[in-house]
Amino acid sequence: MLLEIENLLRLQDADKEIRRLQDEIAELPKRVAAIEHKLADTKAGLEKAQAAVKADEASRRKYDTTITDLRSKISKYRDQSLDVKTNEQYKALLHEIQFAEKEIAATEDKILELMVNADARDKEVKAAQAELKAEAAEIEKEKIEARQRTAEDEKQLAEWRGKRDQMRAGVNEDLLRHYERVSKFRGTGISEVLDHKCMGCQVMLRPQTYNDVRTGQQTVVCDSCQRVLYFNPANEMQALEPEHKRSRRHHPKIDAPQAWYYRQEFGEAGEVFMCFNNAAGQATRRVFDMHTGRLVGDILIREGDFRHAFPEDITGAIRLNGSWAEREMETWGTEMPMTALDSLHVDLEAAQYEMRTRAAAKSETPVPAPPQHAPS
Ligand SMILES: [Zn+2]
Repeated sequence: MLLEIENLLRLQDADKEIRRLQDEIAELPKRVAAIEHKLADTKAGLEKAQAAVKADEASRRKYDTTITDLRSKISKYRDQSLDVKTNEQYKALLHEIQFAEKEIAATEDKILELMVNADARDKEVKAAQAELKAEAAEIEKEKIEARQRTAEDEKQLAEWRGKRDQMRAGVNEDLLRHYERVSKFRGTGISEVLDHKCMGCQVMLRPQTYNDVRTGQQTVVCDSCQRVLYFNPANEMQALEPEHKRSRRHHPKIDAPQAWYYRQEFGEAGEVFMCFNNAAGQATRRVFDMHTGRLVGDILIREGDFRHAFPEDITGAIRLNGSWAEREMETWGTEMPMTALDSLHVDLEAAQYEMRTRAAAKSETPVPAPPQHAPS
């Protein structure tokens, strides 16, 4: 391999690490802001519950006054009834007294209702207070962690920038400019050639280009994606494993909590790898650009298991092997590591190869095909 290429590969590693650190540094305040937002919501909830308690207390006082007033009215009517001259006057007073008594009973019912509600209100307030306390403690912890992580990241970033500057000095100026321009647009500026294909864009190379890359006498760029190409004989050997070995592809378990898929079309993103995780009754979906390994869009979370939560994504997609701990994936940030991306590419190739050979052999377990082509 050309020394230039080796330097460029090291430079690419440095660039990746720098990007990862920069992304992580940018992400940390967002996480803190999200928790702070939640904290504000809980605070508002508590204030609402407390206001409801106050309103109930005010109503209670109002009802108590109403009852006192009605009672004094009744006693006034009773006094008056002693002095009445006619039967009609007496009846009228009696009617007033009955009316007031009814009102007292109705008001007492309202007070009882308030007392029953008070228990529930009390629970609401206590729950909101406990939640607030827990969230406040969590946010403090997160802030401290974010600060420490940021400081550590900044330190590493400075080191990597220093290393990168040294590496840049080891690469020819024109090549460096080309590499940086392509990196800016495509996420990576250098790509391996395997099985006559550019691994960056998956396009077959012309025979002359392929030979130029293999001989390694000069730097060659991909006609299709413009990435600088290199060839590693050790990897090529693996890619060209005997067919019987390939056909023994390990098959993903149907009930695994994590599942990877390849989709040919995903909106504007084109070809993507999708990862679904089932945990605690929820399904999480991550989508990655299949060439750069960059995260496409937001991480989605839906209720239920992923087959039911994201049926539209799985239909027509190719299931792949791949399993990374959720905790590890969280450290990926906005880009999956090259090792993960490579293993998905290798498995996709194997899966596609398997599908082609199966279709050709028309075996008993046919490849998924549209209904009209499916054997009966
Ligand atoms: Zn290419």
